[in-house]
Amino acid sequence: MSRLAYYALPVALASLATAASAKTWLVHDIAQLNAVRPVAGDTIVLADGEWRDATIKLVGEGSAAKPITLTAEHPGKVILTGRSNLKLAGNHLVASNLVFRDGYTPDDVVVSFRTDSRHWANHSRVTGIVIDRFNQPDRRKEDHWVSIYGADNRVDHSQFEGKGNDGATLVVIRDKPYPLDNRARIDHNYFGPRPPLGGNGGETIRIGTSTESGSDSHSIVEDNLFDRCDGEVEIISVKSGANVIRNNLFVDSQGTLTLRHGNGNIVERNVFFGHGIPHTGGIRIINERQTVRDNYLEGLAGEDFRSAITVMNGVPNSPINRYLPVRNALIANNSAINPAEINLGGGADAERSVPPESTRFVNDLIVNAGSGDPIHIGSSIAGISFENVIQAPAGKPAAPGIKRRAVTLARAANGLLYPTDPALAKVGAPRDLKPVTRADVGVPWYPKGGSVPVAFDSGTTRKITPAQPLADAVAAARSGDVLELAAGRYRVAAPIVVDRPLTLTAAVGGNPAIAFSGPALFRIENGGSLALKGLTITGAEAPHRAGNAVIRTSAAPMTGAYVLTIEDSTFTDMAGAPGFDVIRTTPDTFARAITITGSRFADVSGTVVAGNGKPDDKGFYAARDVTIADSAFRNVGRIAVLSRGGKDESSLGPRFAMTGSTVEDSGRDGGAIMLWGVQATRIADNRFRASGGIHETHTVGTPHTMIVHNVFDATPAPVIDELYYKGPPRAVIADNLVEGA
Ligand code: CA
Repeated sequence: MSRLAYYALPVALASLATAASAKTWLVHDIAQLNAVRPVAGDTIVLADGEWRDATIKLVGEGSAAKPITLTAEHPGKVILTGRSNLKLAGNHLVASNLVFRDGYTPDDVVVSFRTDSRHWANHSRVTGIVIDRFNQPDRRKEDHWVSIYGADNRVDHSQFEGKGNDGATLVVIRDKPYPLDNRARIDHNYFGPRPPLGGNGGETIRIGTSTESGSDSHSIVEDNLFDRCDGEVEIISVKSGANVIRNNLFVDSQGTLTLRHGNGNIVERNVFFGHGIPHTGGIRIINERQTVRDNYLEGLAGEDFRSAITVMNGVPNSPINRYLPVRNALIANNSAINPAEINLGGGADAERSVPPESTRFVNDLIVNAGSGDPIHIGSSIAGISFENVIQAPAGKPAAPGIKRRAVTLARAANGLLYPTDPALAKVGAPRDLKPVTRADVGVPWYPKGGSVPVAFDSGTTRKITPAQPLADAVAAARSGDVLELAAGRYRVAAPIVVDRPLTLTAAVGGNPAIAFSGPALFRIENGGSLALKGLTITGAEAPHRAGNAVIRTSAAPMTGAYVLTIEDSTFTDMAGAPGFDVIRTTPDTFARAITITGSRFADVSGTVVAGNGKPDDKGFYAARDVTIADSAFRNVGRIAVLSRGGKDESSLGPRFAMTGSTVEDSGRDGGAIMLWGVQATRIADNRFRASGGIHETHTVGTPHTMIVHNVFDATPAPVIDELYYKGPPRAVIADNLVEGA
């Protein structure tokens, strides 16, 4: 008896129900699976349970009428964990109803439409697959969750959520030897929250690469939901021609659908909601013959490359991987409701000097509640025409062909806003748009949006006294809990691990102080976020050795973007040894936000916010938004050191803001604030006295730097350098008082 027949016996009866030649194989482990040689019409069933460290291969020759299917005994009951993945090769294959979680792929793809470089799948389908936070432990290690090779393949009704490491979530690969005209279809999927990566490589979908972008892919991305896809500037990166992106819903996503390379793409009937959330964007246009029509964009607060609509400037004789000029674009019947920006000639600089040509806006509707004009003109718009473009409110049009008038909107049954004036019936997005719902996408048997971090203060409040070890109280707390510390002195020996969102706050009227005797007080690990309120933290008992820090991030790489908030707290006595930092991060970890308000820092030998990035091309950096407000610094080594290397423009940060604060006797060894590659800087209404200055170096992108209304008393004036840009430093430095320097 062959091994194959032996394993087939227990399930042979299942095949009775189907055609005589079609078999169903129930397999319980990889050895059984690998023994099956399925033929057209066969079904392989993975037994319910955990499949750990499993490479599942589906290989065979099905037919259109009789595909070969691999599925779960019950949907959602087969869980692939550990180092697992799925590979397909052959024709007319269907893989369905599997869950990947609690692990990561041992190679660079979780679901691959190839088994090796010479064997791939055509006419095949992956449906009902869930990939949930199946992340490489190191956020800088690149992988993809789905790689579509071959032609006529489909990924549908699947869920992808919480990718935290480098690499586009789903890619369509069409480099040699794989077919170029490959007609992938990606539909009815739930692309759930993807946190900002803090570097290039955080796309949710990429179709092709620049190398083969001159040819057509004819792929279709339709009826998908993109929910908080914040990985980087490109949510979808189209890098090939003749693709159709339609009927998708983008919600609260901090990026854009980008026609990055390739010509003749169609973007139609998509709906974008930003709800006023910063950096939420719409559609970015590059290259030739792009059609953007019948889209609805509401509440998008993004600017620059993340505008509701961006028409980019191009590079003369552009290399294929830079920016080919926009020509013959049609942008028709789109509605932009309360956009922060419509960006024409986006990214114009010394290199991107070719304005859009032969580009038409027709029957578009732009409505803003406020009086400002969101249309930003970055270069000549002589090559852009406007035909019956209606803009509200009334005012001076930015260009001929734009008609400005009052427009009243009403929300229709489909949830979208339309003008009430019948004269505007043919302007803006069509009335019959029907945004997809959560029920239309993904699977019904697995939750959607579960990877969103628990909010601070969403749990219960636990009252803590100094009689109880603080480390024990933290260990017992659940995600979102608040530890309310009564007055008194708390002593902590080993660093407290924070791997959940936690708040430590002073009880009303209390003034708790924490002293720590190890090299750190808190260590943030994957999943952790920390809020400190009303605490006094002293370094008096810390070791008299270099390198202490109050809060440090994991020594190991992390994939979760964390949040750190400090309010009304005091940090003192941290000058007993050199290099004593308050917050020390690494570029292997990533802060979505570090926010300090109303706090006091005195006698700190190191840096309050230490955030150095990596000097590599991807420009990974340690923190996106660093905000300091209404705080006081005295005898502090440095207030902030933030850097980002590389030349990439995909990501938003770091961003630095400091307002309403006082700095005394600080940063005297070379500077108080050191910024390198920071994308947005606002330093306003601060008072510096007898301190080191601000030193900022601009690298790539269009850095926004504003240093205004500060007093620099016996403190040097700010110094701004440009690393690449030719010309005077791009910064607004105004209304500062420099005295006694
Ligand atoms: Ca990118």
